[in-house]
Amino acid sequence: MSQKKRIVIIGGVAGGASAAARARRLSEDAEIVMFERGEYISFANCGLPYHIGGAIKERDRLLVQTPRAMKKRFGIDVRTNTEVIAVDRAAREVVARGPDGAETRERYDALILSPGAEPVRLPIPGAQSKRVFTLRSMTDMDAIKKVVDDERPSRALVIGGGYIGLEMAEALIDRGVNVTLVELEKQVFAPIDPEMAAPLHQQLLMQGVDLKLGTSVTSFRDEGGRLTAQLSSGQTVECELAIMSVGVRPEVNLAREAGLKIGARGGIAVDEHMRTSDERIWAVGDAVGVTDFVGGFETLVPLAGPANRQGRIAADNIFDRPSIYRKTQGTAICKVFDLAVAMTGLSEKVLKRRGMSYDKVYIHPANHAGYYPGATQMSLKLLYDPRDGRILGAQAVGAKGVDKRIDVIAVAIRAGMTVLDLQDLELCYAPPYGSAKDPVNYAGFVASNVFKGDAKLCHTEDVIDPPGNKILLDVRTAGEVEAGTIPGAVNIPIDELRSRLGELPRDKEVLVFCQVGLRGYLACRILSQKGYACRNLSGGYKTYTMVTGVAPLVPEPVTRELKSDTGEKSGRMVRKEEVVSAATRHIDARGLQCPGPIMRLRQELDAMQAGEAVTIISSDPGFARDIGGWCHSTGNELAQMKAEDGATLAKIVKGEIQAAPLTPAAERKKKTIVVFSGDFDRAMAAFIIANGAATMGTEVTMFFTFWGLNLLRRPQPVAVSKTFIERMFAWMMPRGADRTKLSKMNMAGLGTAMIKGIMRQKNVQSLPQLIESARQAGVKLVACTMTMDLMGIKRDELLNGVEEGGVATYLDTAEASRVNLFI
Ligand code: FAD
Repeated sequence: MSQKKRIVIIGGVAGGASAAARARRLSEDAEIVMFERGEYISFANCGLPYHIGGAIKERDRLLVQTPRAMKKRFGIDVRTNTEVIAVDRAAREVVARGPDGAETRERYDALILSPGAEPVRLPIPGAQSKRVFTLRSMTDMDAIKKVVDDERPSRALVIGGGYIGLEMAEALIDRGVNVTLVELEKQVFAPIDPEMAAPLHQQLLMQGVDLKLGTSVTSFRDEGGRLTAQLSSGQTVECELAIMSVGVRPEVNLAREAGLKIGARGGIAVDEHMRTSDERIWAVGDAVGVTDFVGGFETLVPLAGPANRQGRIAADNIFDRPSIYRKTQGTAICKVFDLAVAMTGLSEKVLKRRGMSYDKVYIHPANHAGYYPGATQMSLKLLYDPRDGRILGAQAVGAKGVDKRIDVIAVAIRAGMTVLDLQDLELCYAPPYGSAKDPVNYAGFVASNVFKGDAKLCHTEDVIDPPGNKILLDVRTAGEVEAGTIPGAVNIPIDELRSRLGELPRDKEVLVFCQVGLRGYLACRILSQKGYACRNLSGGYKTYTMVTGVAPLVPEPVTRELKSDTGEKSGRMVRKEEVVSAATRHIDARGLQCPGPIMRLRQELDAMQAGEAVTIISSDPGFARDIGGWCHSTGNELAQMKAEDGATLAKIVKGEIQAAPLTPAAERKKKTIVVFSGDFDRAMAAFIIANGAATMGTEVTMFFTFWGLNLLRRPQPVAVSKTFIERMFAWMMPRGADRTKLSKMNMAGLGTAMIKGIMRQKNVQSLPQLIESARQAGVKLVACTMTMDLMGIKRDELLNGVEEGGVATYLDTAEASRVNLFI
């Protein structure tokens, strides 16, 4: 093709304007005509919500280029308010309709289509109301902003929790508009996995957004300036405006009518040079189908980065520069109030759906050295191929530093790196910016340990109600356990593990967890070297709470100062300012990671009187969730909580119950049961109480003496050396719980058999099952050493996990317990 050619471009924003500018840089001789149906070209669509919200004050800042500047700088003939209505491929002409309605035909040597995507409008009654907006253009933005500026609406409904919905929710809250956000899925920001969205849900609630997941809108009624939206849940929302942000669909009508090939996902089909099925026509941006870089499948990724690069590549190829578009990775980021969420590559749900082989690790590191003020915790999930370690995707959420980590991993994916390579990346570090082991290195270490077989991980799905051949071990401190643990877990803090190994059954796989995974890993190293089969819960209890949504907190909405329509601070507060002035003590726990903030709080409360208040500010994102549960279980009152500069500020009033220092709080919950009887019914009662108490988070010790000791015997005979008398004794006494009898109405075993039958019918756990559940729930089973000696019962005859102890052990535990039972 000669260099003096006529290039026609349809669409004058991201892809179109990039293509036009690049074409000019490549050829001074080319004639370049750019058609734009709207009034503006090259505007910053990505900035639209921020102008509505007031963060970008001057509207003109959004206009990156004007038709006049484009003409002056690049010599491009820009035709705004002109829509191309047809492409005549045979004549190599486009038909354009100008602002006056007149149609003209324009010849082209090369045609670039960059028509973008159109926002989806749900086909529901009332969706065409003037108060239901979509946001794509400057005109859309102006219309929404006018309602917000002029009418000062009290409530808006945002439909869809994608990035436009989330950004609009924040913008409207910033302007003092109450927001209800409905999302059809059970999570916002659909490209990431659901557990990674959990912190976003908490953030939205904390900022006062009325978040309704798993909900859609079924109709609107527009009555004199007010909208009534009917929700699928049966509720209605009264509002003055609604933002419909439920996704976009590629603008392909022109291409389809021109007979160009459309891909399976509905985008214009292009090759790696961005050329369509017509060799004279190229297409770029949101309108085209792309190939996923990691999975190799066709997909649609409507993002500005790809659109800009593709525009450049199309222009290169028009001027015979062999330039290739190397697929799309879907690297994206979104601001959600004080948090950022970002991802690159494939998510777990896509990998699963496509049947691709993957493994995953979670980490929760600080964005920079914890000792440097202002450190905040992020959560990072890394997905890789367990066969060769190739990185498949990553997601991160946190207040700071998320963009940097995801960008580094995005580059690693591009370079075809493996998790082993992540360990070696040399990334910049000084305390205010990072850590000597950057979160990216750290993710590499964890994944490499698993990849090389040095560490075995389990995930939340493995620790929820694990089968009987597994035991859950929580290696966190008692203080952390108070704020919540996984049901059924036994607690042995990591520093006590070496001396308390005997409490763990050897015939079970130990599923270990701590708060974020590090102490769990250390515990696994100890256990595996001592011959235990074990796995560490990836990302620890923190990931567990993200996956299960345990203790979702609906904190008090934040108080914020409104921005005026010009973006200035207005001095008008949106919500009731609740002052934390009653508190005279303040703890700055920023930079401390869990359990640091809670431990600091405990220390402070120990020195306080009941009724006194303390404020604590913590940058640990888990703090907002944990503090409610912790206060509840320790008898203190969480008086207030709000988000402040990416951290959580909480006010705690010391409870009356805590006249004594806090440390014995756990002890007040202890219960001791002396099991003296070996009768079936009494043993049942003892274990039912023990199990019940354990599920309420109480530490239970059962002390077995005399006939009660028989309950702990293994049912099978064990070859141990015994004297004649001991052998006789052993023969006369029941071997194990299943051979015990009713204390009354045994009737030569008939009564016991009948009651066991009724229990089976009514689905009541058998006595051996109750003993097993108690063990799994962390109930301490102690065999009285004196009685063992008296009756000639040897250690090896007892069930796994049973401890031995004398009267001192019992008295010690009993003294620290609130409830002591003798059964
Ligand atoms: P567009 O930029 O939409 O340009 C297409 C243009 O073509 C339109 O102006 C349209 O009027 C015109 N047109 C269509 N048909 C015709 C026709 N027949 N004749 C003449 N003109 C026509 N992406 C990110 O990566 N990060 C972000 O943070 C981000 N935020 C966003 C926020 C908002 C509110 C929106 C709307 C988008 C955001 N995006 C973001 C997406 C990004 O803006 C798009 O991916 C990008 O603009 C696509 O470029 P494009 O050239 O394909 O389409």
